[in-house]
Amino acid sequence: MPIKSLIRTIAHYPREGIMFRDITTLLKDPTGLRTTIDQITERYRSEKINKVVGIESRGFIIAAPVAYALGAGFVPVRKPGKLPADTIGCDYQLEYGRDRIEIHVDAIEKNDRVLLIDDLIATGGTMEAAIKLIEEMNGTVIECCLVVDLPTIGGSKRLQQQGHKLFSLCRYD
Ligand code: 5GP
Repeated sequence: MPIKSLIRTIAHYPREGIMFRDITTLLKDPTGLRTTIDQITERYRSEKINKVVGIESRGFIIAAPVAYALGAGFVPVRKPGKLPADTIGCDYQLEYGRDRIEIHVDAIEKNDRVLLIDDLIATGGTMEAAIKLIEEMNGTVIECCLVVDLPTIGGSKRLQQQGHKLFSLCRYD
């Protein structure tokens, strides 16, 4: 079952003109969920990943089972004020305004081999901020992994041009 066929598109959500790619329909499908996790896990099986970083909130849903299957640890990257211990943060640009993500200061150690996971890349701002946080802590981002790439918005290309590796299970051209 192709993953893309299980993703639902909601027109004009969260606002007029946005085609929202809704992965809840993929997640609720037993074969869809298993295939998603298995395909990602197989790709990184021999990469000696020891930390899987998931971005709030849909990234958590994918990253945690992948971490478990790879025998790696799971690390959350969260919106401001959500993590209880000391954090470092990174601000990034949104279409309108700014946003910020944070990670615990002790979450990544030097030479950690990190797989970074989110559900979707659009402008790439979120992913780029997460990469900065991991690199600031001297971790190595082996690859950024997404369920969905929206290449027409340009984020994936921009990150690749910066030298980052990116992999997505499906794309909407
Ligand atoms: P970016 O920073 O690349 O512009 O946006 C990516 C972030 O916004 C991701 O964390 C993702 O969860 C969320 N996002 C933006 N658009 C969509 C969408 O159409 N579907 C889903 N599932 N998430 C989206």
